[in-house]
Amino acid sequence: MPAESVRQARPWRPSPLIAGSFLLHGAALVAVALHPPWWPQLLLVLVLNHLLLTVCGLVPRSHWLGPNITRLPRAARARGEIAITIDDGPDPAVTPAVLDLLDRHGVRATFFCIGAQAQRHPGLCREIVQRGHTVENHSQHHGRNFSFLGPRAFRRELRQAQDTLTSITGQKPVFVRAPAGLRNPLLDPVLPGLGLQLASWTRRGFDTRTNDPDLLLRRLTRGLRAGDILLLHDGNSARTAAGEPVILVVLPRLLDQIAEAGLRPVTLREAHT
Ligand SMILES: [Zn+2]
Repeated sequence: MPAESVRQARPWRPSPLIAGSFLLHGAALVAVALHPPWWPQLLLVLVLNHLLLTVCGLVPRSHWLGPNITRLPRAARARGEIAITIDDGPDPAVTPAVLDLLDRHGVRATFFCIGAQAQRHPGLCREIVQRGHTVENHSQHHGRNFSFLGPRAFRRELRQAQDTLTSITGQKPVFVRAPAGLRNPLLDPVLPGLGLQLASWTRRGFDTRTNDPDLLLRRLTRGLRAGDILLLHDGNSARTAAGEPVILVVLPRLLDQIAEAGLRPVTLREAHT
């Protein structure tokens, strides 16, 4: 069962940067106790440490705050696999056409759905799974403040999405993607308890803002190779000059290029078998 290997609970282990930050805070406390006049310099060091942690949370592909999937595993790369991930749906105006395009190309994709959107369109969310794709956790509300949340709010937000998506599709998500890929150091410790692994991407086209299909295709396929995780959007998709959701123009061309390159699109779960 593909999902089992990724669903195994892992104990939370701090990344080297987080462990180092804990040590630094402890050392600073000891130092200020021994030499109180040093406090301004020590405070500056701690402020710089927090600045570094913040910057790492604002870099979606950063591995410094904890495990973050940005490419498929070695075995999947050896099999010539690639993953198409589609965020922010389900969207009744776009998702059905995306599903038809994927069917036409015989391709399975990973949909990072927003819990609240799934509640609005449960039938569509179920259809994604019924047509052979997987639905993963993209938070319940996709709030702009996600990267400012604390541990309790992260847990509530992600558990709500887990419960919503599981009850609608019958499948428990095993991957989570932070809204816009933005997070903070307090997210990683809550993920093991929810059975979730953070998954970002190798490359994205910025298709919520860019409506030029040629430019998007170039961004998504520059250096395309086995193991890549590509990010597109069915929810919040930019519209072309002709008013069409840009994913519907880009996706067929992208799937053709992937096939021409001899690569095989799979879901994230399948890649992690
Ligand atoms: Zn999103």
